[in-house]
Amino acid sequence: MKKILELKDISYRYPDGTGALSGVSMEISEGESIAIVGPNGGGKSTLLMILSALVPPSEGEIWIFGEKMDEKLIDNAKKMFPLRKRLGIMFQDPDVQLFSATVFDDVAFGPINYGISGKNLKKMVMGALRYLGIEHLAERHPYELSGGEKRKAALATTIVSDPEVLIMDEPTADLDPESRNEVVDVINRFRETGKTVIVATHDMEMVPEVAGRVIVLNKSIMMDGRIEDVLIDKEVMEKAGLERPYSVRILEILKKMGIPTEDFPFKTEEALKWMEHALSGHKED
Ligand code: ADP
Repeated sequence: MKKILELKDISYRYPDGTGALSGVSMEISEGESIAIVGPNGGGKSTLLMILSALVPPSEGEIWIFGEKMDEKLIDNAKKMFPLRKRLGIMFQDPDVQLFSATVFDDVAFGPINYGISGKNLKKMVMGALRYLGIEHLAERHPYELSGGEKRKAALATTIVSDPEVLIMDEPTADLDPESRNEVVDVINRFRETGKTVIVATHDMEMVPEVAGRVIVLNKSIMMDGRIEDVLIDKEVMEKAGLERPYSVRILEILKKMGIPTEDFPFKTEEALKWMEHALSGHKED
C-alpha cells in the first residue's frame, strides 16, 4: 500500500515550553484505519494537528503525500491548498468548525474556498448532509443543535470535499449511544470506500469497531500494532491508563478456562454473539 504520511523522530513543544511529543516515528499507508489512544495529556491532539499539517513539529521530519512539511510550506496557503483538500480534519470541539448562520453555510465554507458555487455547491453540501442523515438540519443555526447533531454537522464540513484521509479527535465524546453508533457507522462507511481513517479516542469499545491498527501514545509511542496484538497487552494498556474493551476481558477469561478462541471477535457486539453461540453448545454448527 502507498505510504501517505510519515513521521521521523518528531518532537513537539508548545511555546510555553510544555513538551507534548518526543521521538515519535510512524508510517501510515493509504486505506489504513488507525486508532490513537493514550492517557489525557498524552499528546493525541497534538499529534493529530501535526498529521493534519496545521503545525510543524519542533524537531524531526514529517512527510505528507510525499511532501516534506516545514513551517514555510505550512504557512504558504497557496501551496498547501491542494494538499489540505486531501485531508479532512474533525476537531474535538465541534464549535470550532461551526461558526456560520446555518449548517448549510458551514458545510459550504470549504467548497466555496475551493471555488465551487451555484448548483455544484448545493449538490456537494446537500450530498454531505445526506450522507450523514442530516439534510433536515441544513437551514438550522448550528448553536441550536444537540450534541450529536453538532458533531454530525462538523463531520459534514470535514467530508464535504471528499478528502482521502479523515482525521478525527474524539469523534464520539459526549454522545448518547444512538448518536455514537451513527458516528461509528459513518466512519466505517468512509473506510469501506478505501479511505484512510485516523481517530484519537478514549472510547476503547470503539477501537475494534473502527480500526485495524492501534497506536498507544504517551508523549512517545508505547506500542503500535494490530488491534489483536495491542489490546490484549495488559501491561501496556495498564501503563497507559487505558481500560481494555469488554471483548478483550471476556477473551482472557475464555483463555483461562481453556476454551479455544482462535476465531473470537474483538467487536463487543460480535463477541457477545460468539459467547451466546458458544454457551448454547452450538458453536461448531
Ligand atoms: P491529549 O490529546 O492526549 O489529551 P494533548 O495533545 O492535548 O494530549 O496535550 C499534550 C500535552 O501538551 C499536555 O501536557 C497538555 O497540557 C499540553 N498542551 C496542549 N495544548 C497546549 C497549549 N496550547 N499550550 C501549552 N501546552 C499545551
